[in-house]
Parts: sequence; structure tokens; C-alpha cells
Amino acid sequence: MKALLIYPQYPDTFWSFKHAIRFISKKSVYPPLGLLTVAAMLPQAWQLKLVDMNVSPLLRRHLAWADMVFISAMAVQQESTREVIRRAKQAGKAIVAGGPLFTEAPESFPQVDHLVLNEAEITLPRFLSDLATGHPHKTYQTKKFPELIQTPTPRWNLLKMKKYVSMNLQFSRGCPFNCEFCSITALFGRRVRTKSAAQIVAELDSLYARGWKGGVFFVDDNFIGNRTALKAEVLPAIIQWMKQHHSPFNFNTEASIDLADDDELMSLMVQAGFNQVFIGIETPDKESLVACGKMQNARRDLDASVKHIQAAGLEVTGGFIVGFDNDSPSIFRRQVEFIQNSGIVTAMVGLLNAPRNTRLYQRLKQEKRLLKTFSGDNTDFSINFLPRMNYQELIRGYQRILQSIYACKPYTLRVQDFLRRKSRYIKELRRAGKTPPSSSVPLRLYHIKAAIRAFFVLGIFDRGRRYYWKLLFWSLFRCPRLVPQAITFAIYGFHFRRVFHTTRAR
Ligand code: SF4
Repeated sequence: MKALLIYPQYPDTFWSFKHAIRFISKKSVYPPLGLLTVAAMLPQAWQLKLVDMNVSPLLRRHLAWADMVFISAMAVQQESTREVIRRAKQAGKAIVAGGPLFTEAPESFPQVDHLVLNEAEITLPRFLSDLATGHPHKTYQTKKFPELIQTPTPRWNLLKMKKYVSMNLQFSRGCPFNCEFCSITALFGRRVRTKSAAQIVAELDSLYARGWKGGVFFVDDNFIGNRTALKAEVLPAIIQWMKQHHSPFNFNTEASIDLADDDELMSLMVQAGFNQVFIGIETPDKESLVACGKMQNARRDLDASVKHIQAAGLEVTGGFIVGFDNDSPSIFRRQVEFIQNSGIVTAMVGLLNAPRNTRLYQRLKQEKRLLKTFSGDNTDFSINFLPRMNYQELIRGYQRILQSIYACKPYTLRVQDFLRRKSRYIKELRRAGKTPPSSSVPLRLYHIKAAIRAFFVLGIFDRGRRYYWKLLFWSLFRCPRLVPQAITFAIYGFHFRRVFHTTRAR
């Protein structure tokens, strides 16, 4: 059997970092981890090819080669996915599809021959067994959540690693919380299931053996869902592995804000090589947090918690949402003030949407406020329900937030704030006789190329060039070790401004 694994294209969103990764001659930020893991579950005798359309186009010859096409996608890839399905059908190929997009709305894809839904550890073996006997069904679903102890190491050999900014791996699925708008608990449950320390070490070994050095993203929706396993086994194992291998990786992940309450956990994460964590902050409005069930955020001083995590040595990137029922026109100003004061450089602000299977979706359905399907795109200004606030006012306010936080001056101020804190943190570590964590990314030719490109694009041609030079000279004098990070942030800022301007012009 020749199986062609296809990962459809992402649109140009804040998350894609498309305008930033061009500076370092990369094509995509992360590889398709789900498909690579599925590849490892397919029969060994099968021939496999992967086409990640974010890296290289899907060609006619790829489809001609295949006996069967496997597609995995999220909601945001919907448009490209439909095009892939059309082309695969035109080429007369059987299609097998899975992943969140298909699991949430299988009836929207009648052209797909086999929908292998939910988690592949349960549904894929059933499909493969039926296929082997010549009687595969249309749909494979389950309400069960598998243990991850049997989940194999992804098939990295199918990947052109050089095309990606970072590699990724997964430690856990599920989240103990139950925020009203979040689809994670519907997809993966509230019981946190984890891989063993030995599995994580095997995955690090396999990335290392393939020559990878640099960033590794733990894709868990809430990395700290099972703290006991992290503290007792997984983080100590990673710390040891990193020491033995001279710290070839640096890690980042996503976690809930109650990470701030656990100094031991943060210290272990930093020792293991974690330098960044994405946190769903959502809104500074307590009533909205209570209404959406995000009690772990509502019960605390969010700004103090963010600063405590930053002081522990972890850069915080934050997710923010507008469009809650409780939002008044002042929310736009309050969001901007919160972001600006917290020192969060990379703030991802989105409009509230209700993915299928969420509690929010059910509530809005009862209230007869649902409008259309969820696009998953944080730049198309779409909202799939009738907001309480006037839609035009909401969109104008949302645009004002984006314009305010990504404008050159406030953005540069946030970067300076972050670098100042980081520099202070490094000095404190040194004073205490400790070695500050290195960036762990060896200097490569593409870094030098990126600096040269930044010189021309940001330093000469960009309208915000004044701020580029200001940031560069400021960091050169105040924290010279952090100049590469200052340039990286300047490049990210350029990406955010580009996405904002192109989407606003649509
Ligand atoms: S904490 Fe994050 S992952 Fe967990 S339910 Fe809330 S939004 Fe979802």
C-alpha cells in the first residue's frame, strides 16, 4: 500500500508567523505532529510519503503515486482541506481523514471515504483491521480516551526538518479545567493522560539522532495538567538527558496560569530548558472569567501571576479574547492596558468563537444565537454567534486593540521591558553563582542571513525603521547578550503588523 499523508495549508494568521520565518529561510513553524504519529501506527510494509502543504505544494505526481490519501486538519485549515479532498477525488483516490476538523463535524465531509475520528490510538487499528479484511467502514468513532503509554515515536524520517523553525512533541492530552469556550476537554477529556518519562526520552533521542538542534514545542494544551508525573519523573529525566547531551534543545509549551503558584515546578521547567510558556489569560474582566468558568484566572491577580512566571525565567506569551457577553466598550482599552503593563511581548488576541462540542456552543444554541461554522482563523474577523455587543462596535474595538499593541512604539516598549527583566534575571542568577540557561540554539548561517535581511527590511525599508534602530542600539548598550532576541522580536513585530494590515484591507 502506498499512503500519501497530506497536511493542508494554513491561511496567513498571527499564528503562522509567515512574514517572520521568511527572514530565516524557513517554510513553517512546526511540523504536522499528528500525521507523523499516525504514520508510526501504519503497517511497516506500507510505503509512506508526507506532503506538508505549508512547506511544499501538493503535486499531481504525488496523488498519482498514492493508493490512499490520509488527511489530518484543524478548523483553520478548512479551505485548503476542501481543495485537497476535491483533487484527491478527481484523481480517483480513496481518502482517509482524521483530526479535530473532521472529528468536530464529520457530516460536513461526505466525500471522505473513511473518517477515522477521535484519537487514532483507538480508531486507527480498527480501520486498519477492517481494511486488511477488505471491509472498511465509513466512520470510526469512540467515546473512550486511550492511554498514551503505547503511542509510538513520530516518524521524523518523513520530514525535511530544515524547513521548520521548531520540532514538536507531546507529553499529555486532556485538561483538568473546563473553560466554556474550549474544545480541548470535549476532544480529549478532563482526565490528563500522559506519556512515560521513557517515552519522552525516546522522542528526544530520536530528534537528536536525526540531527535536530534548537526549539522543541511541547504541544500539550496544558502541560502542567499532571504535576506529579512532571515533578517526579518527566522533568528530572529531561534535565538529565539535556545534561548528557550538552543542552541541544530549548523548550516551550502551553500551560494554565496556576503555574505561577508552583515555584518548584517552574524551577524544574527552567532547569530542563524551558524558556517560554503560552498562557490563556483571556481577559482582565473578572466577571467574564467567572461566566466562562475560567476560575483559575478569576481567583487571582493576573498581572502579578504573569510577572511571577516571568521572574522565574520563563517568557510568557498570552492568549486574549474579546466578545464575551459581559464585555462593555471599555474592554478594548482594558485589554491594551493589561497587555502593555504585563510585559507580554507576544499577545495573541482573538474574537470569541464557539467551536462545536463546547459548552459555549450548547448554550448559544439554546439561546438561538449561533450563526455559522467556526473558521478557526484569528484574522478573518469572523464570529459564529450573535454577540451581545453590536458586531461593528466589537470589530472596531478588536481592530483598535491589534493596532495599539502591534504599533511600533508600544511594541518596542514591551520588548524593552521584557529584555530589561531578562537581563536582570540573568544578573541575579550570576550573583547567586548559578549558570544562566543558554539559548541553546547554535549560531547558524541562516541566523546571519536573518540579521542581514532584518537590516534591509526593518532597518531601511520598513516604516517603523526608527524603532528598529532604537531597539537595536538600546539592547546593544543595555543587554548586548540579548541582541539576537531583540532582533527576533523586531521580526515578530513586523509579522504582526503585516498580518494586521493585510487582513484589515481584505
Ligand atoms: S485551561 Fe486552557 S486547555 Fe484547559 S479547558 Fe481552559 S482553555 Fe482549555
